[in-house]
Amino acid sequence: MTDTLTIAVSKGRILKETLPLLAATGITPAEDPNESRKLILPTNQSNVRLVVIRATDVPTYVQFGAADLGVVGKDVLMEFEGRGLYELLDLKISRCRMMVAEPRALAEQDDPEDWRHLRIATKYVNTTRRHFAAKGIQTEIIKLYGSMELAPLVGLADRIVDLVDTGNTLRANGLVEIEQIADISSRLVANKAAMRMKYDAIRAMVEQLRGAVKGSAERAA
Ligand code: AMP
Repeated sequence: MTDTLTIAVSKGRILKETLPLLAATGITPAEDPNESRKLILPTNQSNVRLVVIRATDVPTYVQFGAADLGVVGKDVLMEFEGRGLYELLDLKISRCRMMVAEPRALAEQDDPEDWRHLRIATKYVNTTRRHFAAKGIQTEIIKLYGSMELAPLVGLADRIVDLVDTGNTLRANGLVEIEQIADISSRLVANKAAMRMKYDAIRAMVEQLRGAVKGSAERAA
């Protein structure tokens, strides 16, 4: 008997970019995920179903075994700091970078080598604290849930840590990148217990997805 696999996928852009990879492995949702209000989406393969949830909830679903596999951004994984997950595959989708950014005027006379104490607005509190602690830099971190770019413009913080793709959002708000924290892309993660119990099914899925990622990279080249 084939094991059933539940895959938790982050809503929005990651779901959109995951569907073609799944399709390349022969898995398609039974209903259009953009139209459907169902939270559990059956697929054309009776042993595979998708749960489409908020990005920050994906590691929790996988950690507790509510999903066997998850597709989630590296930014969310870095922030989660949880146990019970294996990172199996870089899906190379939803790529961007996690950056420290600041107003252009500050950047013109700023040198990261001189940083001793920083006041930073971000939603990546743990990642930011870890990054600077490793360099012996003290941080006062102001937790925000969105629109980080606004914080330096209104004096809430001197700098921000946020994801940057084209750089348009920073530019539009007079901010510039000053230091990179990490390259970000979406990862396939697995629950550790599921990895033991459903080894063959997960292994087969990983190998198929690895092929799909490779195929999509070759097409893009
Ligand atoms: P951009 O203007 O293209 O540099 O995009 C920056 C904005 O989009 C910021 O608000 C980011 O938080 C968000 N963003 C960019 N790339 C991603 C990504 N891969 N995943 C989630 N949010 C992203």
